[in-house]
Amino acid sequence: MNLADSGLLSAAMEASGYTAVEEPADAGVIIINTCSVREKAEERALGRLSNLIRFKRENETYVCAVGCMAQRMGDDILKRVPGIDFILGTEQLFELPRLIAEKNNKPLVSTDMTDNLKFAEFPPVPDNSYRGLVTITRGCNNFCAYCIVPYVRGRERHRDSKTIIHEINQLVEKGVIEINLVGQNVNSYKHQDIDFPALLKQVLYETDISRVRFITSHPKDLSDALIDLFSDESKLMGHFHLPLQSGSDRILKNMFRKYTYDHYKGRVEQLRQARPDIALTTDLIVGFPTENEEEFEMTLDAVREIQYDSAFMFRYSVREGTWADKNLEDDIPEEVKLARLQKLIDLQKEISCEVNQKEIGKVRSVLVDGTSRRDASIWKGKTEGNKTILFSRDEDLLGQVVPVTVERADSWTLHGEMMG
Ligand code: SF4
Repeated sequence: MNLADSGLLSAAMEASGYTAVEEPADAGVIIINTCSVREKAEERALGRLSNLIRFKRENETYVCAVGCMAQRMGDDILKRVPGIDFILGTEQLFELPRLIAEKNNKPLVSTDMTDNLKFAEFPPVPDNSYRGLVTITRGCNNFCAYCIVPYVRGRERHRDSKTIIHEINQLVEKGVIEINLVGQNVNSYKHQDIDFPALLKQVLYETDISRVRFITSHPKDLSDALIDLFSDESKLMGHFHLPLQSGSDRILKNMFRKYTYDHYKGRVEQLRQARPDIALTTDLIVGFPTENEEEFEMTLDAVREIQYDSAFMFRYSVREGTWADKNLEDDIPEEVKLARLQKLIDLQKEISCEVNQKEIGKVRSVLVDGTSRRDASIWKGKTEGNKTILFSRDEDLLGQVVPVTVERADSWTLHGEMMG
């Protein structure tokens, strides 16, 4: 979501005559779009801002903190990093070009949550020339006990499907091959009588986009109609990100996730029936308040049973103002959280490696999006399952979709050879 917002803000800046530069020393405006989902993300953003503020002293440069942390902390950010010119929350960041034009000498802090949904005015800048992010909903109504998102991004708002289709067509005209439909909970998308499966059908049939993904899904809202689309629609890429968070029903209940592990497993089984080789990824939290050893083991058992392709794994960190912060004691010692997290990471690494071995010999349709960081002569791309694959070929393939046979694999990367 932050990447999508950064793209929209880039478009808004470009529409006002700004161009991007590579080095902060060359910039007239430096913008850090921030995340609040974990304490560590905020600390990193504050560190980056402290580091970048020196360019303001040397030049006539505006330094701006925007997005979720700006929304949550407001002018408290100035106590940590004095000298910031603009602090704009999640619904105000797109106003930045206008606010710069009107700027006086005082720092400007604006965290008004009045929804201004200015998506349509700024056609998004593609993530790169071949992939684009298209926001379909903003905000979340779920209030999971640990999560700050509903507080910093507000309640759910859904965009008109016509605007979404128009935006995708604009991206296709710019050469985009793959789009990712983005929302905190895409499964609850509803605009007039169009729900998420209906929107997806429109995207698949009423645009010329070649590859479609979406993120993020909530297990409680994942419908049969959406799963069925994976049986029939080849433009829908074979990857599903379905956050589990915990394998223990008691912990899931205390997190207010509103599903049980059995329900989750049922959804996974149905997805695998619809698309047998679908890649499954998830989010997991260890050390949620009161999680005992047995309940942590349930998460490990779930990971063994489901066999995820990969997972984002975190130890619980308190987010101020959330239900868990106000009502539960953060009672799992840090060293226990860290030990559980390491055990989980080790297990998932092993499983990712095993799952990736099964890719060997398969031909995958790969969107080539760059070259290997270590060797610029090796192409890098993403398979339908969103796995990174590397292969050699002595011709320019950037932005093309090509068939690649997987030859070897580790936990993180596939290596292959292009066919033909
Ligand atoms: S569904 Fe839960 S975890 Fe996801 S954004 Fe909403 S409140 Fe946060």
